[in-house]
Amino acid sequence: MKTKLLISLAVASAVMSGCVTDGATDALKNTNVNRDQVNKAVDTFMPDSGYKQALKGAVEATHTWTPEEERQLGTNMSAVLLGASPLYKNPQAERYVNEVGLWIALQTTQPDLPWRFGILDTPNVNAFAAPGGYVFITRGLLLRLHNESELAGVLAHEITHVINHHHANAMKKRGATDVVAGLVQQKSGSANTAALGNLAKGLYSSGLDKSDEYDADRNGVYLAARAGYSAYGLPSVLQMYASTPQDAGLQLLFATHPDPNARLDALNTAMDKTNFPKGVEDAARFKQLQKLVQYEAPASEAPAAAPKKTKKSKKSPA
Ligand SMILES: [Zn+2]
Repeated sequence: MKTKLLISLAVASAVMSGCVTDGATDALKNTNVNRDQVNKAVDTFMPDSGYKQALKGAVEATHTWTPEEERQLGTNMSAVLLGASPLYKNPQAERYVNEVGLWIALQTTQPDLPWRFGILDTPNVNAFAAPGGYVFITRGLLLRLHNESELAGVLAHEITHVINHHHANAMKKRGATDVVAGLVQQKSGSANTAALGNLAKGLYSSGLDKSDEYDADRNGVYLAARAGYSAYGLPSVLQMYASTPQDAGLQLLFATHPDPNARLDALNTAMDKTNFPKGVEDAARFKQLQKLVQYEAPASEAPAAAPKKTKKSKKSPA
């Protein structure tokens, strides 16, 4: 127990302190990202987006949650996600994903949110966000990616959902306002927690509006480029989705997002006209992360949960 706690504390302090400049972010800082070129790209890439003004601090998204309410909402929504799949507890892997995620989050209008990036211990292929700074990616998706720019693209897409309050606004439409206010004021905690949990389950199983997904794709590409990554990481992930058979591990992803080919078309039209600088891809370092999240059996076999003839595990109850 004690060792576990010490490891957790060490990871937490490493992520929170200057140690985040080790590894992932260090390489990015050395790439001399052409910020002017990226910032010019936004004019071509997102001419009608409110994001440009938001970056200048001129526009706040149209939401009325207080930061405390939004964080409470996100904490409860994260609990729903973690109820379905627990966190994958590997300090090195968690630290890696947090380094990449925090570095991208620092490029946003809300670098000071208490950002947390977690790996969900499931072979399903997906990523999730919750209001207030929570982002999750599954082991299954990590194992299907090819390099760090793809990870950056996925995280930047989810970060955009947080920054643009997509889930918070959707939960408001579903009637969560009073429930969240009640939770913040600690009124009838368990009833409100259960009610909010049901609303969150409904949203995560039906998905956001398609327009929010397209918004997250476009801003995600831009944010990843702004962080110094190749702008083509996210499109590359969408290509992988489009060419992967829709097995059980991808069902929820396909049910809750627009068709990957439609998402690619939407991005390609704008990206063709945009001159993004060449960014980091970094496959070698990413392969080390994949070793940390690897299943003993091939990942492609894991989601099927077919009964397999395996040796009796020592951990099996007698
Ligand atoms: Zn999304």
